[in-house]
Amino acid sequence: MQVGVVAIQGDFQKHIDALQSCREGIVAKEVRTPEDLAQVERLILPGGESTTVGLLMQRYGLGDAIKKAADEDMPIWGTCMGMILMASRVSGRAQYTLDLLNIEVTRNAFGAQVHSFEDAVEVTGLDQPVLGVFIRAPIVSQVEAPAEIFAQYMGKVVGVRQGKRLGTSFHPELTDDLQLHEYFLKL
Ligand code: GLN
Repeated sequence: MQVGVVAIQGDFQKHIDALQSCREGIVAKEVRTPEDLAQVERLILPGGESTTVGLLMQRYGLGDAIKKAADEDMPIWGTCMGMILMASRVSGRAQYTLDLLNIEVTRNAFGAQVHSFEDAVEVTGLDQPVLGVFIRAPIVSQVEAPAEIFAQYMGKVVGVRQGKRLGTSFHPELTDDLQLHEYFLKL
């Protein structure tokens, strides 16, 4: 199976490494253009800087190509920046997003004192909690159907699922825990 990772900026190599470790037969590919996207069956949007990546995706036509692929039922997962880009809106800002998850996100929502931390997160449908690495992480400030809560941490929504689309505030690709990558590959 060919799995793409948007490779414009951010920690895409970590997702590629995690995907390659999941099982044989998974080929992870960097995606920068609509032509790259046409080669893959699933897509991950990694962590990074959502304003920059959003602008570049819009400019080079990748954003429109991703929306079309999502309409055609491609499974798509965004981690941190990736979830921000998949949201329908960003609280308090007019920022380009793909509108693939029926949610509002609030960026950098864990406060100035706790820019980055890690802790166990309970995720619906997984046997074990996952180690969540949060780096200037967003929270999901509103969830509307058909989006559903998928993970919560300290009373805040940090993961959502909408059909074959997933968004998580944290970064499983920065740990050795492959549970969420495996889950995504089965969607
Ligand atoms: N704070 C970043 C943003 O708003 C996201 C951080 C991340 O992906 N680790 O784009």
